[in-house]
Amino acid sequence: MPRMVTLLQTAAPVAASYIPNDTRRSLVGLSREQLAAALADVGVPEKQRRMRSRQLWHWMYNRGVTDFALMTDISKDLQRKLDESFVVARPEVVTEQISSDGTRKWLLRLAPDEKGARHEIECVYIPEEDRGTLCISSQVGCTLTCTFCHTGTQKLVRNLTAGEIAGQVMLARDRIKDWPADLEANPQPPSSGRYITNVVLMGMGEPLYNFDNVKGAVEIISDGEGLTLSKRRITLSTSGVVPEIVRAGDEIGSSLAISLHGTTDEIRNKLVPLNKKYPIAELLEACRNYPGSSNARRITFEYVMLKGVNDSVADAKRLVQLLKGIPAKVNLIPFNPWPGTQYECSDWDTIEVFAEVLNNAGYASPVRTPRGRDIMAACGQLKSESQKVRASERGKD
Ligand code: SAH
Ligand code: SF4
Repeated sequence: MPRMVTLLQTAAPVAASYIPNDTRRSLVGLSREQLAAALADVGVPEKQRRMRSRQLWHWMYNRGVTDFALMTDISKDLQRKLDESFVVARPEVVTEQISSDGTRKWLLRLAPDEKGARHEIECVYIPEEDRGTLCISSQVGCTLTCTFCHTGTQKLVRNLTAGEIAGQVMLARDRIKDWPADLEANPQPPSSGRYITNVVLMGMGEPLYNFDNVKGAVEIISDGEGLTLSKRRITLSTSGVVPEIVRAGDEIGSSLAISLHGTTDEIRNKLVPLNKKYPIAELLEACRNYPGSSNARRITFEYVMLKGVNDSVADAKRLVQLLKGIPAKVNLIPFNPWPGTQYECSDWDTIEVFAEVLNNAGYASPVRTPRGRDIMAACGQLKSESQKVRASERGKD
């Protein structure tokens, strides 16, 4: 059974970089072109804009610098102008929790939206021996209502901006001390040389319902002169928004994960109601057409193990049939319970039998060890406290 972990530390709120009533605009999340346009707004002459935006880009995204005064190749005069009009913002850390297994979860508060509301999101870092995965959110809440997902009990509040999505990676690098200068100063590199090696869009929200902002964020995260994580190491997880899947392959180019969870439309309709709109056959057809997938770059199929619902040997055999012809790997996820849920996690023996059917058919099917359960940081447990909907209201969604 998954090992139990205990909560080591709940940090007091960490000093906020957010300044109340600060109307300066954040530069985080702007593309190179938008950055050049922002420089034009503060009077940088056209012939200097490319060079200046390259410098700014490097300081913000590659070095993690937030203070214009530290950007030493930018003139004092321009530093001052930038500081008058702009900030290099991060989401504000409300709490930081560290699990006994090293998993960290941040509750983050966003800058006010146009109505002045300050929403909260969660972001989780999961260290492993050979990698460190950062799980980021793409929306506050979710429009979809998957019945086993805690986020699904919260209505969509709003899409995150590209800056708020990429900002989670930047904030995590701040907190873990994962910027190049930090790693030089404290050379205890994990085997891969940095702490965050992979980013997964598996936090709150459906990334393909926030396409443009997710695309903008992935461009910054994967930019060779930006946050420098290759697109291969960025995985977008979708519940199956079929029309956007192929488009994502063409325009975003990240790795793809599909939340399958059911092997018949009847079961999947109950677990992932979006299946009624885009049934399994259409979803798998979109996967077959996903640009860039190959045996070297497989599509991940996520499958949450729910006791007595989708965990029989017949389900496992049907899953093998469904995946035929798709370069696929399967991630079996033990269900992570949350208060008020109607589901239970499958027994460990059942999960092993299920995995064995997949293994015998040639699918490596690692069972994802639940991480950070003590701090409600595991898959599907994410939901900011401020947005709680009572469990009894859930059925009405
Ligand atoms: N909306 C996207 C990405 C966020 S959910 C999607 O659905 O793919 C990330 C993953 O966590 C999905 O595979 C989702 O099905 C899974 N998940 C949600 N709730 C869970 C829970 N309670 N236990 C285990 N996995 C869960
Ligand atoms: Fe939304 Fe994904 Fe949760 Fe479904 S599993 S409700 S799509 S976040």
